[in-house]
Amino acid sequence: MKFINDFRDRELCETLLERIHKEAVREITIMEVCGGHTMALHRFGIPALLPNTITLLSGPGCPVCVTGRGFIDHAIGLSMRDQTMVCTYGDLIRVPGSESTLEKAQADGANVRIVYSPLQCIEMAAQDPETNHVFLGIGFETTAPASAVALQKANELGLKNFFLYSAHKIMPPAMAAIIHEGVKVDAYLCPGHVSTISGTKMYEPLVDQFGVGCVVSGFEPLDLLQSILMLVQQQENKNAAVEIQYTRAVKSQGNVKAQQILNQVFEPCDAWWRGLGILANSGLKPSANYKGFDASVVYGLSTNEPADPTGCRCGDVLKGLLKPTECKLFRKTCTPANPIGACMVSAEGACQSFFRYANS
Ligand code: SF4
Repeated sequence: MKFINDFRDRELCETLLERIHKEAVREITIMEVCGGHTMALHRFGIPALLPNTITLLSGPGCPVCVTGRGFIDHAIGLSMRDQTMVCTYGDLIRVPGSESTLEKAQADGANVRIVYSPLQCIEMAAQDPETNHVFLGIGFETTAPASAVALQKANELGLKNFFLYSAHKIMPPAMAAIIHEGVKVDAYLCPGHVSTISGTKMYEPLVDQFGVGCVVSGFEPLDLLQSILMLVQQQENKNAAVEIQYTRAVKSQGNVKAQQILNQVFEPCDAWWRGLGILANSGLKPSANYKGFDASVVYGLSTNEPADPTGCRCGDVLKGLLKPTECKLFRKTCTPANPIGACMVSAEGACQSFFRYANS
């Protein structure tokens, strides 16, 4: 199948749905870890087509959603310093900090620039040696390699005015923490893009320790329905396992070259996740050889994390404990035009996905 329409073929979708309805006898709760999956599931109306025996929960896989207010506060503070430029991916710019956003700070004259990659920030740093450039590194195994390559490039160029402020995270500790918190999850729809880099071995402890099924899924309707069917079959046959549905992009060993670069440049660190708090070894920071590029070291940034605003339930949404529609602020004070919490900001946030696509 070469073209996108092939992955949206109506007859094949109906056939898969019939099989899901026939085979999903036992109750199963599936968490889609990735925000991209949440968005795709709701965009294609899949949750409403599934049998009552299947419960879907949204998980902690939206990079913007899990990034803390403290990180945004520090980023705003940096952008207001003299001769300092903060470079960020566009989806972070509207995430609320304690009192403001990078977008508002920019409107007030702070030095914030949206870039499409950290290498763009490197180019800017090379062209303007008088200004310190701080790249905000957010996201999981998918985006971390680009930050790692940027640090290698900065090192090669001998730049003294490029820094990475890293909130990069890795997925498996969060997936284990969800189970440890007692959230009832029978199976994970595992993130496709993350797995492209990391491979699938990292999911094996989840199967071994918790008996949770794991299927790495693509993002089109046929991908999602086939992955759900695979998880249903695992549940019915009581044979939880790690499987790849998204075989056109994911190999079990992952992208070995990207993994090598990550290992050369980063080392594990404890990291704060919205809803889950600090998880040991769940983050990535520049390793000793790249310490001089680490903004949190150079600028002495603390890891204090302010609480979310009163009424915002993003933390519970990210743990699958609450549907966005059950938050009292949903569609009232909290909308994509006026997001109270991070889950309403990003197109991959569960609250925005429900706002745009779910009926209630
Ligand atoms: S609806 Fe808004 S306030 Fe409520 S959990 Fe979602 S983002 Fe947070």
